[in-house]
Amino acid sequence: MSEPSRKHAFVTGGTKGIGKAIVEKLLESGYLVSATFRNTEPDPSLKEHLSLRTYRCDVTNKVELEVAFSEATKEFGPINFLVANAGMTKDTLLLRMSDDDFDDVLQTNLYSAYRLTKSVLPAMLKERFGRIVYISSVVALMGSPGQFNYAASKAGLIGMARSLVREVGGRNITINVVAPGAIDTEIFRAAGEQRAHSITQSIPSGRVGRPEEVASLVGYLLSDDASYITGAVIPIDGGLAMGI
Ligand code: NDP
Repeated sequence: MSEPSRKHAFVTGGTKGIGKAIVEKLLESGYLVSATFRNTEPDPSLKEHLSLRTYRCDVTNKVELEVAFSEATKEFGPINFLVANAGMTKDTLLLRMSDDDFDDVLQTNLYSAYRLTKSVLPAMLKERFGRIVYISSVVALMGSPGQFNYAASKAGLIGMARSLVREVGGRNITINVVAPGAIDTEIFRAAGEQRAHSITQSIPSGRVGRPEEVASLVGYLLSDDASYITGAVIPIDGGLAMGI
């Protein structure tokens, strides 16, 4: 029941921020990696990597996602590792939140993970091996003012993961959720300097995290060493949400 000799990982939002760090980590560890991007073109250094293919795809677009998925499968074979990382925020207080603000965030952060999981699952069941990681957020656990939509999407990932564990856990497929706190990327900086400062002050470790730190955790969860960890929600947050 150990990992397959050919390891093909599909990572959404893999050319920037946390996703890029995950892609780099997996390439270092010998995976074949298919990474999607929407606006951020891959760095030339990434593009040259023989074990990497990149696909432009908006994860809210079912057809684009299916095309990327089928091209990736043709290129590197069945996907046995999935990291649903692409995500966005559209922060505003609930009474100002439009239906589009709510829909866009749910489509990007939650529906895309649903579609991807449904696409990868048949091959994982057939091969009796699969590793799935959803990138959620501590906001799913703590709540956050102005993030009604984002918190709903990130909490939804936890429910999906745990339900799927109960459906396919016996087939050597693990599904885990990583819940980062404040990580130094564009999505965090978009909250504004003042908010970033006040969040940083409330982190027991006294600093924001680095994308590479999240990538290490994801790398571990995908590895054979983590084969008995499933349905877990693992915070990586410098203690921000500890005890919740
Ligand atoms: P970034 O803003 O740096 O990256 C977001 C990534 O998501 C980009 O690769 C972007 O692609 C991709 N993306 C967004 N919308 C779409 C879409 N519709 N279709 C395809 N790709 C899309 O943020 P992070 O790296 O920090 O975020 C990665 C994940 O980590 C997200 O799910 C986020 O919610 C989560 N997270 C981040 C935290 C933080 O503090 N940074 C804290 C908790 C969770 P492109 O640039 O090509 O458009």
